[in-house]
Amino acid sequence: MRAFNFSPGPAALPDAVLEQARDELLDYRGRGLSVMEMSHRSKEFVDIAQSAEADLRELLAIGDDYHVLFVQGGASMQFAMVPFNLCRAEDTVDYVHTGSWGTKAIAEAQRLAMVNVAASSEETNFDRVPARETWRLSANAAYCHIVANETIGGVQFHEFPETDAPLVADMSSELLSRPVDVTRFGVIYAGAQKNVGPAGLCVVIVRRDLAGRARPGTPRILDYAVQGENGSMFNTPPTYSWYLAGLVLKWLKHAGGVAEMDRVNRRKAAKLYAAIDASDFYHSPVKTPDRSIMNVPFTLADPALDQAFLDGAEERRLLNLKGHRSVGGMRASLYNAVSEEAVDTLIEYLAAFEADHG
Ligand SMILES: *Cc1c(COP(=O)(O)O)cnc(C)c1O
Repeated sequence: MRAFNFSPGPAALPDAVLEQARDELLDYRGRGLSVMEMSHRSKEFVDIAQSAEADLRELLAIGDDYHVLFVQGGASMQFAMVPFNLCRAEDTVDYVHTGSWGTKAIAEAQRLAMVNVAASSEETNFDRVPARETWRLSANAAYCHIVANETIGGVQFHEFPETDAPLVADMSSELLSRPVDVTRFGVIYAGAQKNVGPAGLCVVIVRRDLAGRARPGTPRILDYAVQGENGSMFNTPPTYSWYLAGLVLKWLKHAGGVAEMDRVNRRKAAKLYAAIDASDFYHSPVKTPDRSIMNVPFTLADPALDQAFLDGAEERRLLNLKGHRSVGGMRASLYNAVSEEAVDTLIEYLAAFEADHG
């Protein structure tokens, strides 16, 4: 029996997807070989790649004025690719700082441009998204970067800001969890291993007019235009991860698309937050309006009980609930592939553990 997996990433994948991958592992659709063993230039793989792109475009209603790229290097490589492509060393770029991934994105950008941290909730330990009125955006920023969902702190933008500069969003831990109006963004990127597929792949959605402006000296492999012109096959792409992401996208379409995911994800998160809020034993550190639908950090009244909580969870096959070392406590990640049954089982366990130790 499969466990209930609340891992922040690499994270749970749908059973149906893994079963299909297993069935096709040795002999992909009668071709007599595994997807892992195929040329990325073969007709079979090019079909896999193109269907994944088409399905992603359909699921998020992405227009032809955007490139959709499937590249390696993770979201962390985008921390560098964004400034390489969208600005010059002397340009100012705005960053809104709502957590640990923002810290890393800012550190990378500081090597490549003049960073203005337009707003930060660091002083309150990243418990919120700073109110829009308090942001100090630059007059001529090349772009404005946000982390749509801070995976570690569990802080999420529920509304996206209007900015004069192109808006760039790290959506690693939320892409495909809800509908998003892509036209509001210059660049959206997401490491796949949270909500899209396995590790090794990063999805990048780039407005075409922003590609082709990379600064001189940009390595070609890091140039959005080069990746776009080559259909993300400038070099060998992560073929098996791309294939698995494609299976996830088909599963998503079958399950009702992102609007349905949004409904279910909201229901899952609402129940869990309600259980946490109803108890004095558990505590959510994030301000209510900015709480993440995907990653729910919570603490126990007595941290000395943390290990007993995790041990008891594991006995019930509730896995990977330990919070990030920078925050402590617990974190339940509720990505698309985490079932409502998993969340219900977790909520029952919260009550049982409190009854024994509260
Ligand atoms: C996991 C994560 C990253 C880092 O992803 P890598 O693929 O490991 O580079 C960046 N940003 C956010 C929001 C994440 O959740």
